[in-house]
Amino acid sequence: MKPIQHFRLVLLAAFVAFASSATLHAAQPNIIIFLADDLGYADIGANGCKDIPTPNIDSLAKNGVRFTDGYANHPVCSPSRAGLMSGRYQHRFGFEHNSGPERFAADNFGLPRTEPTLAERLKPLGYATGMVGKWHIGFKEGLRPHERGFDYHFGFLSGAHTYLPGKTDNDPLVRNGQPVTDEKEYLTDAFAREAVGFLDRSQGKPFFLYFAFNAVHAPLEATGKYESRFPGISDSKRKTYAGMLSAMDDAIGRVLAKVRELGQEDNTLIFFYSDNGGPTSQTTSRNDPLRGYKGQLFEGGIRVPFLAQWKTKLPPGRTNTQSVMAFDIHATALVAAGGKLPTDRPLDGVDLMPFLLGEKTGAPHDRLFWRAGQQKAARVGDWKLVDARTGAPMLFNLKDDIGEQHDLAAQNPAKLKELQAAYEAWSKEMQPTQWRRQDSRTQGAGKATAQNAPRGGGIETRFQQYDRNKDGKLTPGEFPREGIFKQMDRNADGIVTSDEARMFYSSRPQGGAKEK
Ligand code: CA
Repeated sequence: MKPIQHFRLVLLAAFVAFASSATLHAAQPNIIIFLADDLGYADIGANGCKDIPTPNIDSLAKNGVRFTDGYANHPVCSPSRAGLMSGRYQHRFGFEHNSGPERFAADNFGLPRTEPTLAERLKPLGYATGMVGKWHIGFKEGLRPHERGFDYHFGFLSGAHTYLPGKTDNDPLVRNGQPVTDEKEYLTDAFAREAVGFLDRSQGKPFFLYFAFNAVHAPLEATGKYESRFPGISDSKRKTYAGMLSAMDDAIGRVLAKVRELGQEDNTLIFFYSDNGGPTSQTTSRNDPLRGYKGQLFEGGIRVPFLAQWKTKLPPGRTNTQSVMAFDIHATALVAAGGKLPTDRPLDGVDLMPFLLGEKTGAPHDRLFWRAGQQKAARVGDWKLVDARTGAPMLFNLKDDIGEQHDLAAQNPAKLKELQAAYEAWSKEMQPTQWRRQDSRTQGAGKATAQNAPRGGGIETRFQQYDRNKDGKLTPGEFPREGIFKQMDRNADGIVTSDEARMFYSSRPQGGAKEK
């Protein structure tokens, strides 16, 4: 080939490469996921909250879609976030429990590196990837946000953090893994500053911002600036909670304003949701009209505020009543970015856009499942199975009974059986849990392996011997050794579950329990 021909070919190839990347970029939306922590279903104006205005959060509903039946993947923080980041039922890789504090966390705690995060999927598509806030799906080297696909992370790794600067916390703030010791701002304000800074630095590329607040999770801490907005709230706990929520709404407003300032509002796909329902009595969060709270599989533990905005695609002010779950955000973002859904493993999340645009009829999911230790739940159409740790399995029809007040199990044994069978079929596809939540009392009980099963017949066998009526739990009558019973009953509800018994025995030195 003559040099001049070769030069032309190189030029042509370079032009084609440039043109295709420019075309891809032009078609790629920016993506923002705002994740609230422990925010209850009725905690935003768009879902009926009256005493705490959330205008910036509500603007997403006004300009986009409000999902009435949007679910978190799990009733507590950490597994819920693993579901979002992986796009899958987190049980597929045994991620079923919180970690407990870092110093007690099981050795194997975290999102395995074999499960790609959304950031790891978007980065190769040309995205600038940034995360601000609470991670909670891995502490160890190799499992932290800046090592899991995020170009930038500012925040913390564990499940909770103080909001007030200067207050000591066991879990340091980090920037790309390095401790930050000079933070001067209220944490939610600091997060807003960092999110806006990331957007400023990310021009020329589509961006993915994962903004994972710890608001409005405990501890209840707000500044005068925010609390003083609520002179009409006399309850001091509620006033502080209102301040925290108002600060989060402001932070979202600052990010939305920056997106507008950058001229990117039309081309940005935004999601807002909460990682689990409100813990109500702890924080004054509200889940009404739903039953239950954080940690439970009644709707109050898993059905959450859930909004989406994408101005050039989604018509404003729509309400969607189909069941959707957080892992759908993963799939929707990936497809919007021009990515392909993985074929090497089931991605349980589905791309919601064809459903929202009316291109696909039917529902994104005809069934959804939750498993949290001994708690089980399934939603199939309007029917919901809730099998809590205690009592008989319950059956509700959410269409007529959103508050899960009327247990229809006895009236509809066939329907109950159908949902139980659906649940069992799903559960069989999942992995057993790879660890249990640990704190100072349960240290050493983390790995759910045969290693920490007690010797001599095994705890399951002994548990079954004591459980005379075979209902899966022990009462003081069935287990008359009061001292040990109290130690086993971690949540002091007067009943010992097999989980509690297992945790108790596996955290003790070999030789078994001694009555104190
Ligand atoms: Ca949470």
